Amino acid sequence: MKKILQDLSFAETEELILSLGEKKFRAKQLYEGLTQGKKVSDITSLPKALKEKLLEEYEDETIRIKETFYSADGTEKYLFEFADGHLVEGVLMKYKYGYTQCVSTQVGCRMGCKFCASTLNGLIRNLSAGEILAQILAVNALHKADVKSGAGESGRAVTNVVLMGSGEPLDNYDQVVKFLRNLTAPEGLCISARNVSLSTCGLVPKMYALADEGLPVNLTVSLHATDDETRKKVMPVAKAYKIEEILKACRYFFEKTGRRYYFEYTLIDGENCDETHAKALVELLKGKPCHVNLIRLNEVKERELKTVSDKNAYRFLGVLEKGGLSATLRRQIGVDIGGACGQLRADYLNGENND
Ligand code: SAH
Repeated sequence: MKKILQDLSFAETEELILSLGEKKFRAKQLYEGLTQGKKVSDITSLPKALKEKLLEEYEDETIRIKETFYSADGTEKYLFEFADGHLVEGVLMKYKYGYTQCVSTQVGCRMGCKFCASTLNGLIRNLSAGEILAQILAVNALHKADVKSGAGESGRAVTNVVLMGSGEPLDNYDQVVKFLRNLTAPEGLCISARNVSLSTCGLVPKMYALADEGLPVNLTVSLHATDDETRKKVMPVAKAYKIEEILKACRYFFEKTGRRYYFEYTLIDGENCDETHAKALVELLKGKPCHVNLIRLNEVKERELKTVSDKNAYRFLGVLEKGGLSATLRRQIGVDIGGACGQLRADYLNGENND
């Protein structure tokens, strides 16, 4: 595979252009074209000779939307293909204030969570910063017309980004941080870090590192249990880091950024969602500057685990609220198009979605 132009910051693009003996303003044309989601060969403002020089070393098409799936509720799901043929998925959720895109940070995942489809074949490879960014550039380009009808500020459809697709963002730390810097840079998409949520299974040392980056994103931790023994049953990462250590790292993140943090708690029938678990969760998080997002397990057919009934999900939420926690039960969206991480790619690789 050749190099990826979207990996470069604006300053690095300028350096590249100057190193090719070109005038500086060409960097702006190139960067703008890429930010609009164009292939290099389609950027008409650039001279042909420069494009040829660039394409000797860099990919022309970093990403391609191989397929789009439309949910009855408006949610869209994409199967993206990179230059080497690897696939990841992404989701676009449409809200009145703008669009939220869920991006992937790795092809596959090596964290091994028992309920998750992304991890079924382990980690294939990390995505580069530019490959993560290109997912958003492609979706903005696809939805250019929606901006005229009111979606999105600043002329672009995607206003919010969540790193909740396939992969563990903090297991691909350097590329993810580079992506966050390029995503929030004024010369590029200029999305505020406050509109970005990074979800981690709890890689504690990297949570500290992220707190020190000066990137005030919303930190979300996938908790899914209230004690280490139960957590180990569904999340192998729990063998490496205790819940107590995770909470300390969250506290540090709060002190450094002033941002409250979030927990995701997937409700799995018979495992973690009876009243005692809810009460234990209240005990664990009471008084902390955090919010809990409850998620109903999206059943993955390769896994045995079963989802919670609506009644029990609301009962669980009720206990949290009564205990004084800030909590919501995530509404189910896009279930008809394989909403959970990695399901679409897994189905595709099994030949179930590609006819
Ligand atoms: N690796 C990151 C991002 C993963 S996906 C993390 O672990 O946080 C975002 C959320 O979806 C995580 O909380 C993850 O645990 C949850 N998730 C994964 N598969 C799921 C499924 N089948 N049903 C419900 N939630 C799921």
